[in-house]
Amino acid sequence: MYQGSCLCGQIRYQLIAPIRASHCHCRMCQKQHGAAFATYVSVQLSDFQLLSGEDLLVQFQSSPGIYRGFCHCCGSSLFWRDSSSDEIAAALASFDTPYVPEQIPDIYSQSHALWCPAAQQDRSS
Ligand SMILES: [Zn+2]
Ligand SMILES: [Zn+2]
Repeated sequence: MYQGSCLCGQIRYQLIAPIRASHCHCRMCQKQHGAAFATYVSVQLSDFQLLSGEDLLVQFQSSPGIYRGFCHCCGSSLFWRDSSSDEIAAALASFDTPYVPEQIPDIYSQSHALWCPAAQQDRSS
């Protein structure tokens, strides 16, 4: 069981049995997180539970059927969901329980930020 929360602490969630993790370098994750990439952990919807703050959770539709959940109070980026799937992804950085995925593949690397250390490694290799 893993628990996570937003910066102000009003939205709290828990999940069990993570399926996979990824560092997503797409432009939408960059924009929403204000960072070079977003690290998400996916779980089955049935393994996900919102514990508090449901009234503060804003669902922004970033493209058709894609919803990005963030806290209305503190702005923390928390969730990503494709409404046609039965999975939800939570931002690993919002976890309060330590969790180190076995593998975290980079996806959408073609749009990676050129100032990101990973991108600099790519250039030198
Ligand atoms: Zn918050
Ligand atoms: Zn992305």
